[in-house]
Amino acid sequence: MTVRSYVHFIDGAERPGASGETIRRHSPAHGAALADFAAGTAEDLDAAVRAAREAFEHGPWRQMPATQKAAILNAWGDLIAADLERLAVIEAEESGKPIRFARGEIEHSVSMLRYAAALGMQLHGEAFENVGPQALGLVSREPRGVVGMIVPWNFPMVTLFQKLPYALAAGCSVVVKPSELTSGTALEVAKLAIRAGLPKGVYNVVTGTGGAVGEAMTRHPEVDMISFTGSTKVGKAIARTCADSVKRVALELGGKAANVVFADADLDAAVDGVLFGYVLNQGEECVCGARLLIEESVADAFVSRLVERTRKIRTGLPLDEDADQAAMIHEAQFDQVMDYLEIGKAEGATVAVGGGRAEEGALAKGYFVMPTIFTDVSPDMRIFREEIFGPVLTVTTFKTVDEAVTLANDTVYGLGNGLWTKDLDKAILVARRLRSGTVFVNTFLETSVQMPFGGFKQSGIGRENGIDGLLEYTEVKSTFIKLGERNAVLPHTV
Ligand code: NAD
Repeated sequence: MTVRSYVHFIDGAERPGASGETIRRHSPAHGAALADFAAGTAEDLDAAVRAAREAFEHGPWRQMPATQKAAILNAWGDLIAADLERLAVIEAEESGKPIRFARGEIEHSVSMLRYAAALGMQLHGEAFENVGPQALGLVSREPRGVVGMIVPWNFPMVTLFQKLPYALAAGCSVVVKPSELTSGTALEVAKLAIRAGLPKGVYNVVTGTGGAVGEAMTRHPEVDMISFTGSTKVGKAIARTCADSVKRVALELGGKAANVVFADADLDAAVDGVLFGYVLNQGEECVCGARLLIEESVADAFVSRLVERTRKIRTGLPLDEDADQAAMIHEAQFDQVMDYLEIGKAEGATVAVGGGRAEEGALAKGYFVMPTIFTDVSPDMRIFREEIFGPVLTVTTFKTVDEAVTLANDTVYGLGNGLWTKDLDKAILVARRLRSGTVFVNTFLETSVQMPFGGFKQSGIGRENGIDGLLEYTEVKSTFIKLGERNAVLPHTV
């Protein structure tokens, strides 16, 4: 297997890191070396920020008509789509996820790119004709400037493309720090952006660790905004640092979603949704449907069907076309999930299925976890409260609608929740009471680019996708224009 070798991407070209040091990525599925990334430093980050600043202040992008911007972004989308298979292999290998989901991730990223390209043409301000007989009020939206983006490893392309095309469509210049575990696709698409006609310096990538590159980015005086996706712990630290220079900050953080299943739901559909919701991406997912809240009268039958279906989940290697789930990202994440399995058992929850490592055959060398369902889970247990970030489902029963809503909202997070019922009134009334940025009704994880995505409570600040996702990268400017003859405010001084 050839080891892919990457350097930074700065000012429209590949650029080796100042230190010459590299970070090697090994497959979490079988240990083979996959890629070398430049171990970035504050010096590399500074070079990228200077290139982005120069592009923003003096380059053609910011002032380019939106129709031309859209043509370039769409041409970029075409190149990414044409390269889908190669990019999907890189994504699957580095992140450990099954190839068919990696393909879906690239396709969804292209959709967001095309949507943002179109949306950019709609960006406009307002004119006020009612601010006085000799005046005109203009409210315009300007690009925020140089945006630093820090993204995680679980959906390397999607988390980047929920930000990047929107910031570009708004006219910003961008420096990205991908996860040091999954930097390949962010670098590959940078080369395609230049081929599509994106001017140099508008999209830069500096690879490396959060401590070296990420910290330097959040402290850099020439970065106007940080857009971060990752853990709530790191998000809080970033917000604290950004406060020093009042940098704009957008945060997409952790979650602990509930799937609330009422007895009057289509229970077959609900089993599908709950299963998909907790197993997708090996549970390494901010909107992982980690908590099943099930109405007591149907709980036993529902859980036994879920257990039966869980036994049929295929855990496989990332390039296995039939795999439903594959490897955890790395040893530390694998260990964290294994620890939670022990914590759940010690807290008195019952393991209905799974409960350990998946290690048969080809899986022996990798970080694979069996999909696991815990029953008899109460809200005081850590497995109910904390983000596990693995294929682990907790089951808690309820008797009334009020009890279901209280349980669903009993978390510091508020990213997404699902609810299942055939009763339309109940669906709408419960959806209103759920404290999360997204509510899925009779489905789970299904949404579209037009729908804003983001968190209530400790799941974040700001929104991605939709018109809100574009406005996030703009500053509002009020221009008050006096018309006609001068009318002195202090006439005695004239
Ligand atoms: P993480 O917070 O550890 O790392 C995210 C990114 O931040 C990485 O690029 C990392 O290198 C960088 N980083 C780490 N420390 C930093 C620092 N001090 N300063 C600046 N940058 C730093 O998260 P992770 O483990 O990569 O991803 C998993 C987490 O991401 C989960 O909590 C998950 O819920 C969350 N997530 C949220 C969303 C969302 O949209 N809300 C999407 C995906 C993942």
